[in-house]
Amino acid sequence: MLDFSLIYVNISFFTSVLSLILLFLIWRKRHVTGSKYMMVVALSVAIYNLAYALDYSATNTAMKVYWSKWEYLGLYNLLPGLFLFELDYFGIVQNIKRRNIVLLWVVPLLVVLMAWTNQYHGWIWSGFSEIDPGTNLMIYYHGPFYAFGIIFQYILIIILIFTLVQQWIKFKQRSFRHQIEVFITAITLPFLGNIIYLTDLNPLPGMDWTPIGSFFSVVLITLSITTFRFLDLIPVARDLVFSLIQDGIMVVDSQLRVIDWNPTLTQLIPKIPIIQGGSAQQIFRMLGIKNNPFENIHVSINFEIEITDPALRILDIMVSPLVRNKAFDGWLVIFDDETERRMANRALEKANKTLLQKLDEIEKLQIQLKEQAIRDPLTGLFNRRFFDEYLSNELIRSLRTDTPISLLMVDIDHFKSVNDRFGHDVGDQVLEMLGEILKTMFRKSDVSCRFGGEEFLILLPGLEHDQAFNRAEALRERFEQASRDAEFLYAQVTISIGISNYPLHADNTRDLFRIADRSLYQAKEQGRNRVCCFSDLKITT
Ligand code: GH3
Ligand code: MG
Ligand code: MG
Repeated sequence: MLDFSLIYVNISFFTSVLSLILLFLIWRKRHVTGSKYMMVVALSVAIYNLAYALDYSATNTAMKVYWSKWEYLGLYNLLPGLFLFELDYFGIVQNIKRRNIVLLWVVPLLVVLMAWTNQYHGWIWSGFSEIDPGTNLMIYYHGPFYAFGIIFQYILIIILIFTLVQQWIKFKQRSFRHQIEVFITAITLPFLGNIIYLTDLNPLPGMDWTPIGSFFSVVLITLSITTFRFLDLIPVARDLVFSLIQDGIMVVDSQLRVIDWNPTLTQLIPKIPIIQGGSAQQIFRMLGIKNNPFENIHVSINFEIEITDPALRILDIMVSPLVRNKAFDGWLVIFDDETERRMANRALEKANKTLLQKLDEIEKLQIQLKEQAIRDPLTGLFNRRFFDEYLSNELIRSLRTDTPISLLMVDIDHFKSVNDRFGHDVGDQVLEMLGEILKTMFRKSDVSCRFGGEEFLILLPGLEHDQAFNRAEALRERFEQASRDAEFLYAQVTISIGISNYPLHADNTRDLFRIADRSLYQAKEQGRNRVCCFSDLKITT
C-alpha cells in the first residue's frame, strides 16, 4: 500500500467520524425545519466514508466488493436526503408528503438492492480487475444498472443545484445567500470528485475522489453550523410570509438602494415604479414626502401620507433602521394602509356631527314646541292651558304657606266695535299693546296670560285684594293712557277689570275664576273702564 493510499484511508475514516459528530450537532438542532433530512445525509456520509476506508484497506476482491455495497447504501441515501433537506429548509415545498418521500427513494433502494445482489446478475458490476499491488486499487467494470443509478443521481444533483441557484437569486438578504452558497459548495465538492473519478481527468485511474470532496463538504457544513449559524436563520417560506403580509414592505440597504419589496407594496403605490437597486429617496419624493426619514440610523420614524393617484389612499409609513450583528445594515420601510380605517372614522365623525346637529335642532324645536304649547302667538303671553295649571299650583302653595293670592280678570271694552270701526288688524295691535303693558308692568312672579279673545288674566301671588286693586287700577290707567297715545288708534279704548282673592273670596280655582268673572261683569255693568272687587258686590254666590 502506498503512503498516499494510507492518507486517503485516513481521510475517509476521519470524514466518517466527522459525519457522526455532524449528526450529533444536527440532532441537537433537531427541531429546525429540514434537520431530520440532514441527519439522514450525515449518517449516509458516515456510512459511505467508513465503507470507503475499509474498501481501500481491504486486500482481496471479495472484501472490496463487500464494502462497495456499503458505499452504495451510503451514497444512495445521501442524495434523496439532501434533496428533501433543501426543499424543506429553504421552503421550496411546503409540507412534503410522505408518499413523495417514498417515491423519491424507489430508485435509490432499487440500486442498493441491485448492488447487494450483484453476484447473481452483475447488473451493477460486470467484473473486476486485478488489485494493483502498487496502489491497492481495483477497477470495477460496470453493468447496465450502474448507469441507471448514476443518471438518477446526476439528475437529482442538477435539480438540486438549479433550485438552489434560483433561491439564491430570490433571497436578497446576505445571511440567506451565504447559507445557500455554503450549501451549493458542499454539494458541488463531492460532485466534482465524482466527475474526476468517472472521466479521463482522473490522475489515478480507479481512485474515487468523491470521498475527498465529501470530506471538505462535511467540514464546511460543520463549520457553518458551529460558526455561521447555519440551521439557525431559517429562510423557510420567506416568500410566502413576505407576500402574505398585509402591509407593504420595502427593504432598503445602507446606501438607500431598494433591495426588496413585497407584492402588497406594488398594490399600495401602483403609480410609483419600484426598481431593484433604485433610489428609495426617489420613491419617497414621488410620494410627496419632503423630509428625509433616513437621517438618523438609531431611530424609527413614523408618519402619514395621503396619495390621490389613482385613488385616495392614506398610508401610515414606518421607517426603521435594520441592525445586524450590532452594525447598521439598512432600512425597513413598512406601509400600513390606513385608508379604510380613516375613511370609516371620517364618515363616523361626519355622521356624529350631523347627528349632534340634528339633536340640537330637535332640542331647540322641542323647546320651541313647548313654548308654543303654553304661549299665545299674538301677544307672547302664556295661554290658558298653562295658566290653569299654574293657578292651581300657586293656589296650593298659598294654601300651604297661608299667603294671599289675587286674580285679575281683564276685558277690553267694546272691543267688537274697535274691530268693526278700525279693522281686525288694529284690533290685533290693541291686543299686542295690552300684552306689552302686562309684560312690563308686572313682576316675574306675577303671571299674565291671554285667556281667550280680548280677555286676559293676571295672577298676583302674595297680594291682598286691596293691593291687587291698586295694581289693577294702575293697569287700567296705563292702558287708557297708552290707547290715547297709540298712533294707530283714533278712538279711546279702555279696559274693565274684575278681582278675586284668596283667602278673602275663595279657596279653590273654580270659585276664584267665578268671582273674578262676576267682578268683571259688575265692572261692565257699572259702566266699564273700571276695576271691581268682589267685596264691592252685594251679591251672593
Ligand atoms: P264688552 O265691552 O261687553 O266686552 O264688549 P265687547 O265688544 O268687547 O265684547 P264681545 O265679547 O261681544 O266681543 C269681543 C270681540 O273680540 C269679538 C271678537 O271679534 C273680538 N276678538 C276676539 N279675539 C280677537 C282677536 O284675536 N283679534 C281681534 N282683532 N279681535 C278679536
Ligand atoms: Mg269679552
Ligand atoms: Mg270685551
